[in-house]
Amino acid sequence: MEIKSNISLQPYNTFGIHVKASSFAEAFSVDDIRQTLDYLKTHPQPLLIIGGGSNVLFTQDFNGLVLKNALGGIAVIKVEHKHVLVKVAAGENWHEFVLWSIENNYAGIENLSLIPGCVGASPMQNIGAYGVEIKDVFVELEAIEIATGSIKTFTNSDCAFGYRESIFKNTLRNQYIITAVTFRLQNLNTFPAYHFHTDYGDIKAALHEMMMFEPTLKAVSDAVIKIRSSKLPDPKVLGNAGSFFKNPVIPLEQFNQLKYHYPLIPSYPAGDAAVKVPAGWLIEQCGWKGKQVGNTGAHAKQALVLVNYGNASGSEIIQHARAIMHSVKEKFGISIEPEVNIY
Ligand code: FAD
Ligand code: NAP
Repeated sequence: MEIKSNISLQPYNTFGIHVKASSFAEAFSVDDIRQTLDYLKTHPQPLLIIGGGSNVLFTQDFNGLVLKNALGGIAVIKVEHKHVLVKVAAGENWHEFVLWSIENNYAGIENLSLIPGCVGASPMQNIGAYGVEIKDVFVELEAIEIATGSIKTFTNSDCAFGYRESIFKNTLRNQYIITAVTFRLQNLNTFPAYHFHTDYGDIKAALHEMMMFEPTLKAVSDAVIKIRSSKLPDPKVLGNAGSFFKNPVIPLEQFNQLKYHYPLIPSYPAGDAAVKVPAGWLIEQCGWKGKQVGNTGAHAKQALVLVNYGNASGSEIIQHARAIMHSVKEKFGISIEPEVNIY
């Protein structure tokens, strides 16, 4: 296990922020993680686990050890009549795993194509897109408790999944290193009748454009890739961490009052007497969409995504995010919150 000193984190975060970690290591096995925890006993310092760095914003140097999770391996651990259980090591790339599932004709995560990052971070915020969340296919995860080094298993209900939320983003924040996640996917080889989720957003339109009138796993995945590639900035070209803010969920009563003043306000049902309002629309109405301020700004095609035009610092981005949050609150009386993990 090599522990490096004074390492730039720029290649390890998709915002491309220049900050340094005083120590840095990469774990390729559970044993590497144990060695790192042993090292921390003799060299006490804060620990931060990262995967692909696609949901973090660094606002300062990290005075501690950054551990990049690089654990690899995908295995079918159980074959059921209709489903397979697939155990995936935390350092596997999420999109590569989605492509693997499609090649094997296993259904359930095709709508989650092209989400950057690693499998180990997917339960952190219960990643979701186009009407599917990982909680829909999640069985359990294994994690090492940082304080004790013991391995624990968390079932679906243990994770307290919510909208872009889980227990690991809340009460158990920074307490566990997720090492593997098990998913239940429908085996279309033995059970081909499957309900595709094509009602959300532009999926149907994209399938039609592609002349795909009967959905298949590959067609739905390709449609999602096509839509995402056309509107989301590629972090390799323009630094970003996807949606910077979560879509707010507000009481129906408050929404009805807003609707009176803003008849075009979009909304989606979100449980009992509550509605979800797209934060991108609110930000656009406040005039931020496509507006560059210094080295940052809300992207021209998707206002929810804050981008780094080249030399932005984390504090510049956070300051801009605060200005956006303030104006949305002033205009609509709605508090929007960051989805990105800020360090
Ligand atoms: P990181 O950014 O490395 O880490 C995120 C958080 O998880 C940090 O707090 C970190 O400490 C913690 N963490 C990471 N790995 C572990 C581990 N093994 N154990 C414990 N804690 C860990 N998200 C969506 O939900 N839906 C989308 O459609 C989506 N689209 C995106 C599009 C773009 C262009 C980008 C840049 C981001 C997008 N995201 C989306 C956000 C992001 O890709 C996901 O949240 C992803 O799961 C983050 O994975 P990561 O490995 O990069 O995590
Ligand atoms: P979009 O299709 O333009 O829709 C805008 C917003 O409206 C989305 O945020 C979505 O909420 C909501 N929405 C649209 N159709 C809906 C429906 N039928 N039911 C409920 N809510 C609906 O969004 P987009 O920006 O192109 O993103 C497409 C998908 O990818 C979304 O699911 C989005 O969450 C996901 N995505 C996530 C990130 C991230 O970093 N978290 C980044 C890019 C894209 P939801 O966000 O709740 O789905």
